[in-house]
Amino acid sequence: MLPAAFAGQRAEHVAVERVRAALAQLAPGLIGAEPWPVALHRTMDGLLTGHHYAKAAVDIAAHDLIGKRLGVRVAELLGGGAVARVPTYYSAGVGDPDEVARIAAERVAEGYPRLQVKLGGRPVEVDVEAVRKVWEVVRGTGVRLAADGNRGWNTRDVLRLSRECADVPLVLEQPCDTVEELARIRPQVQHPIYLDESGVSLNAAISAAGTGLVDGFGMKVTRIGGLAPMRAFRDLCAARHLPHSSDDAWGGDVIAAACVQLGATVRPDLNEGAWIAAPHIDGHYDPAGGIRIDDGHIALPEGPGLGVTPDRDLFGDPVASF
Ligand SMILES: [Mg+2]
Repeated sequence: MLPAAFAGQRAEHVAVERVRAALAQLAPGLIGAEPWPVALHRTMDGLLTGHHYAKAAVDIAAHDLIGKRLGVRVAELLGGGAVARVPTYYSAGVGDPDEVARIAAERVAEGYPRLQVKLGGRPVEVDVEAVRKVWEVVRGTGVRLAADGNRGWNTRDVLRLSRECADVPLVLEQPCDTVEELARIRPQVQHPIYLDESGVSLNAAISAAGTGLVDGFGMKVTRIGGLAPMRAFRDLCAARHLPHSSDDAWGGDVIAAACVQLGATVRPDLNEGAWIAAPHIDGHYDPAGGIRIDDGHIALPEGPGLGVTPDRDLFGDPVASF
C-alpha cells in the first residue's frame, strides 16, 4: 500500500498474488538448480516467460547465498569498485506547492544530493507553481532535481511545464504514459527526459538508449528482473554515458540492500542514487543492521552477501513451501 502522499499516483502496483503464483510455477523447477546468475536466469526463463518481479526475488536470494558462501559482498559479485556511501534521493509526493517546497528545503538541509518531486493528476499550472517554489529553495545548493510525472501528463501539459520552467535545470522523469508520446515531445522539450515505468525489460532499455529516446533512466531492480539483468543494464548505461538510478519499488531491508549493493557499483558520475522505501515505512526486517539513510546517503553494509540478516520471526509463517 502506498502512503497517502503517493495515493492517486500512476505508480507501479505489483499484484502480490501474481508474484506468488509465478513463484509457485518456478519453484519446483529450481530445486537443485545452479544458483550462478547466468545459469539461474536461463533456468527461470525456460520455466516461465516474463514475471520479472518474481524472478528478481529468486535472483536476489541467489546473489545473497553465493556472497555469504564465498564471504564476499554482493557488490563484489556485481563487479566491485564499490563506494562506501551510496547516494540516495528523496521523493516528495504530489502536494500543495508550499508544502512540497518546505519538504524540499528540509531534505536539502539533511544532505540529499537529489530530490524528486511527484507531479501530475491536477491542473498543470499547479505543477508549474510547485516546480518553481521547489527551485527557489534548491537553487544554488547543487542538489539535482527531477520532476516525475509517473506517466500522468499528456503531451500538451508536459510541453507547457517545460516551457514555463525552462530556466529550471530539472530532469523530466517518465512524463507521459507511452514511448510514442515521449518520442513526440522529445524534439520540443527544454529538458532531459528519463525513462522509468516504460523500462520494463533490458530489451526496452536497450531500445530507449539505442534510439536516443531518453537521457537516462529511473530503474527498479525488481522491474528488470533482479541483480543480474540490472548489472547488464548498468553496463549498457555506462557504455552510452546514461545516468540512472537503482531503485526499490516499496519493500523492506532485503530489496533495499540489493539496491544499495548494486547502487554502490554504479559509475559515480552516472549515479542518480538508490531510492529505498525506508523513510516511508515503519520498522526493519533486520532490526540491528537494517538499511538506513543518513545525510542523504546509505552506508554499504560490511557483511557478506546482501549484508543484512532479517529476523525471520518478523515474517510470520511461510505462505508456501516447496
Ligand atoms: Mg519515477
